[in-house]
Amino acid sequence: MPIIVQKYGGSSVENIEKIKNVAKRIAECKKEGFDLVVVVSAMGKTTDYLIDMAHQISDTPKKREMDVLMATGEQVSISLLSIALNEIGVAAISFTGPQLGIKTEGYHTKSRIAEINKNIILDAINKGKVVIVAGFQGVNEKNEITTLGRGGSDTTAVAIAAKLGCPCEIYTDVDGIYTIDPRLYPSARKLEVISYEEMLELASSGAGVIHTRAVELAEIYNVPVTVALNTGNIKGTIIKELDETMEKTAITGLAVDNNEAMITLNGVPHDIKIIADIFSKIAKLDINIDMISQTTPVNKLVSISFTLPKNDLSQAISILEQYKKEIFTFSYETFDNITKLSVIGIGMKSQSGVASKMFEILAENDIAVHIITTSEIKISYVINPEDQKKAIEAVAREYNL
Ligand code: ADP
Ligand code: ASP
Ligand code: MG
Repeated sequence: MPIIVQKYGGSSVENIEKIKNVAKRIAECKKEGFDLVVVVSAMGKTTDYLIDMAHQISDTPKKREMDVLMATGEQVSISLLSIALNEIGVAAISFTGPQLGIKTEGYHTKSRIAEINKNIILDAINKGKVVIVAGFQGVNEKNEITTLGRGGSDTTAVAIAAKLGCPCEIYTDVDGIYTIDPRLYPSARKLEVISYEEMLELASSGAGVIHTRAVELAEIYNVPVTVALNTGNIKGTIIKELDETMEKTAITGLAVDNNEAMITLNGVPHDIKIIADIFSKIAKLDINIDMISQTTPVNKLVSISFTLPKNDLSQAISILEQYKKEIFTFSYETFDNITKLSVIGIGMKSQSGVASKMFEILAENDIAVHIITTSEIKISYVINPEDQKKAIEAVAREYNL
């Protein structure tokens, strides 16, 4: 029988009633003749509660322990879903990430899947069972429990689909991918289809509907991914390779990221070795720097602004404090209240004038811009959070988003 990987997010399993509903849906798919591997996230806001409990004890809990803690959330939901399925006569078996041999590499709390042992999954399927897998977790080379970063269950699902060579369906609380997060802009349009390339840029720019690494893996292994509402009765959005029939409008979507912070370094000697040294020390901590802009030198000194995840701010500051001691001209400012707005569209490759049009829109609406970066299919702007709504509405109007 053909295999499908389905993933149900936290909101789809937030209480017992919803877990029972997911079990019913799985039973129907099984009746339609599919073998199923089902990846689940922790119930509702469980992961947030777990993190909050740790922070009630310590401001700097060890990341290893955070992984052990956070991984418990998914263990609860997989067992309950398996119990719910068995209860309605559908044979099911649950596995944690380590049990399935989901091997990871990299740092605690942001590990990457390196390998999956598909034999355990296939054995269970051959025994006629629905395989329920804990999303978001794995085990590293030291046999330590690891997690994949917030929202990482999507990545578990796509990685398993890639390994099994089958499609992946992501069920969530929204009925597809919209041009803009419908919570931020309720009149956004639903997209029928979106390319891997555009989805990757939207996800990495803050559209939290799917984990960035999941899209990356889907593109590498050519896994078709559908994002749809967890009731399964509304046609969702397909993420796939771009083909001729896909419309190439200048802007496909807009993403908003409120989880970034900005640091401005002042009095930095205009010496590429020093600048490279600062950024390589930050990179060694696996801090993902996104936007960078540098002023022209004045008295052989420059200012450099860059953005990074808010969560990594304190680690970055500890490095900058060192430079403050070593370079007497050096100082820094941090801004943890910024908004990053990104417009994305494959059409930008062939249509010019998007950047200038965006400048016009922002200027007409009195929106101050702190940093801008552009790539082939994306332009990002750091603006003040109080301008977010105005900016979204103006851009959406202009580009019919
Ligand atoms: P899950 O718990 O199922 O993984 P998430 O909360 O991670 O669900 O993702 C779903 C949410 O993503 C939606 O409720 C929506 O607010 C948000 N979202 C952000 N950007 C978009 C977008 N472009 N299209 C649809 N939803 C989006
Ligand atoms: N439970 C994890 C989180 O809340 C993983 C996920 O939901 O995908 O981030
Ligand atoms: Mg999610």
